[in-house]
Amino acid sequence: MLRVYNTLSHKKEDFQTLEPNVVKMYVCGPTVYSDAHIGHAMSAIVFDVARRYLEYRGYQVRFVMNFTDVDDKIINRANKLGVDPQALAESYIVAFRKHLEDLNVLPATVNPRATQTMDKIQSMIQGLIEKGFAYPARNGDVYFRVTHDPNYGKLSGRKIEDMQAGSRIEVEEEKEHPMDFAVWKAAKPGEPAWDSPWGKGRPGWHIECSAMNLAILGEQIDIHGGGNDLVFPHHENEIAQTECFTGKQFARYWMHNGMLQLQGEKMSKSLGNLVTIDDFLSRHEADALRMMVLNGSYRAPLSYSDGIMDAAERGLDRLRSGLKPASTSASGAPTDVRLALDKQAEATQQTFIEAMDDDFNSSGGLAGLFELVRTVNTARDAGASSAELNPAQDTLRTLTGVLGLRLGEKKASGGDADKFISLLVEVRTEMRKQKLWGMSDLVRDRLKELGVSIEDSKDGTTWHW
Ligand SMILES: [Zn+2]
Repeated sequence: MLRVYNTLSHKKEDFQTLEPNVVKMYVCGPTVYSDAHIGHAMSAIVFDVARRYLEYRGYQVRFVMNFTDVDDKIINRANKLGVDPQALAESYIVAFRKHLEDLNVLPATVNPRATQTMDKIQSMIQGLIEKGFAYPARNGDVYFRVTHDPNYGKLSGRKIEDMQAGSRIEVEEEKEHPMDFAVWKAAKPGEPAWDSPWGKGRPGWHIECSAMNLAILGEQIDIHGGGNDLVFPHHENEIAQTECFTGKQFARYWMHNGMLQLQGEKMSKSLGNLVTIDDFLSRHEADALRMMVLNGSYRAPLSYSDGIMDAAERGLDRLRSGLKPASTSASGAPTDVRLALDKQAEATQQTFIEAMDDDFNSSGGLAGLFELVRTVNTARDAGASSAELNPAQDTLRTLTGVLGLRLGEKKASGGDADKFISLLVEVRTEMRKQKLWGMSDLVRDRLKELGVSIEDSKDGTTWHW
């Protein structure tokens, strides 16, 4: 049975869905105001792996990931650049979708946007006001009344009194309580605004996700996911709004991924310590990023470094080695080798399911796959034919596919380096014409050390990585 760690209970729980065989899953997507970085990619990959595994286990997954397309950050950046905030958001949505495709993240069933959910947002705010859980203030904002929610703080484990004592939140006199938060913000000059019963304005960030959930997945969902930096206040406030509005439990399982760190700090735009997805993909294949995530535990922080990338790429090479075809001279492996191969394929499938059933333990799943690779490679060396290797290799392909690895041909390009290598090869050809053999051999040898092979023939010189 699948067990999932629930942030709400701080423990792994048996996974049981609201409806048989259907999983309603919502993951908080990015606020689209700048280039996405590999921390965003990590979160997308973590939930993509969970989703793929749930599908492998026979669930039909309704996967919703939103785009926050109206927000202070978007408005500030758009004003700085002198562009329309909606146009700015739209351009980053297009870019992010492309990134997800490059990263082999399955498309969501729906990608709702705050600006397209305005009716639901407003009706939810109205409902909260009618039930006494929210109030319009004199400044045109509408606030959620935290003191009316006896469960406020249950996800993050905070108590209202402690939050108040420990916080240095500026007391806004329009609020009844310093921890009250805006569900609707009155329009300020130069900001996009929508008409509402409380005057022109725009929604608060938290109510957007509550309303998008309600609009698409309904009052109750199975899994709500996001980065663990969202536990408080975002998810705490989502729970408060939704449960006060519906009177029902909102999400059954709250899953949070650890943060990707660079030099010991969370990768973020505000700290400036980030690697954009574009940067990353210009130097590495997409599988390498996924492998790095799979090697770790999704709930733990992950430190990005050259060392961890090398390990990921070595892991990929090992997995690929298991998929190599039988030798052309293969004449069949001895019986014991063939039996060992079949046995290992079965054992690996079992290990994989056991590991992944334990809160999506992907590194445990990979350990099983490496065992299978070793057995396949041994069998190939012992002369196993394609027919003998095929079933085990199919298992390998299926299970790496469940993890979302593509394992295609290794990217055979050095990007920008290619044109400089071509130039060096051209210069070397000139050297050879002038019979500078020592120099030309030196160029060849040094390029070889960098992984570039040169072949001279009567038709000229070619090179490849
Ligand atoms: Zn959200």
